[in-house]
Amino acid sequence: MAQELPDLKVLRRCWPEYQDEATTHPVAVNGATFGGDDPVIIAGPCAIESYEQTLDVARVVRDAGCKMMRGGVFKPRTNPHSFQGTGLKGLEILARIREETGLGVVTEVLDPRLVGTVAEVADMIQIGSRSMHNFPLLIEVGKAGVPVLLKRSWSATLEEWICAAEYIAKEGNFNIVLCERGIRASCHWEYARNVLDLNIIEPLRRATPLPVIVDPSHSTGQWRLVAGMSRAALAAGAHGLLIEVVGSETARAGLKCDAHQGIPPEVLAEIMGAASERESLCRS
Ligand code: PEP
Ligand code: MN
Repeated sequence: MAQELPDLKVLRRCWPEYQDEATTHPVAVNGATFGGDDPVIIAGPCAIESYEQTLDVARVVRDAGCKMMRGGVFKPRTNPHSFQGTGLKGLEILARIREETGLGVVTEVLDPRLVGTVAEVADMIQIGSRSMHNFPLLIEVGKAGVPVLLKRSWSATLEEWICAAEYIAKEGNFNIVLCERGIRASCHWEYARNVLDLNIIEPLRRATPLPVIVDPSHSTGQWRLVAGMSRAALAAGAHGLLIEVVGSETARAGLKCDAHQGIPPEVLAEIMGAASERESLCRS
């Protein structure tokens, strides 16, 4: 197979010690290792909307056995009139929840000027799909030295995505995890938000030593599709998952952001079970 895609190997150019296409650069965050033997499941709310809502979900996430929680405070909304996140107030809530639960936290940064502030709280900084091409932002997170979760732009090719990662690595930060979150096609929300490109995992893993995880929440936009796509992603060789969770159906009703795609607690438990049963497809 490698002979048919000879150019892939060159994309390991920032990681000379990982030239063998069967090797992965492990990224350790808060006791979890992306690219290690076990899949890493990051779960949490779409957005940090209040202390109570976040604590509710954090307890669900911790009790399910996750070591890391997600939660956005700066929300990259397509519509400028939509809820934009709770900003610095939300970051304070996230810091408090991190302290109280022991969960590692991953949160998105949108503005290069706020990278340092977010890095003081976050164990991992998320670069969202809309920001993958924001080169000044990639350079800033590269300089910050905090592990980075780099989501794929919904229109990026494999090479464009890896080049974005190399903007970060070029600054000396090699702890980058890639996240497939669905690509744009003619879905129009009829049944799903995006097309989950699981095809890319195998070539991506050959092309780069960076661990690859999958977001079944933003790719489907429907919580009922998340468990199936999570199993499929792990079977396709993903090193982990990034999943949105709601605390309860009552909590779902009050959410300002992505309410329809957060899985209930029992579905998170089911996915954690599937992840622990998976035969290890991860290569070290
Ligand atoms: C998110 O994970 O909070 C998010 C906004 O996702 P994406 O950047 O993939 O749209
Ligand atoms: Mn969301």
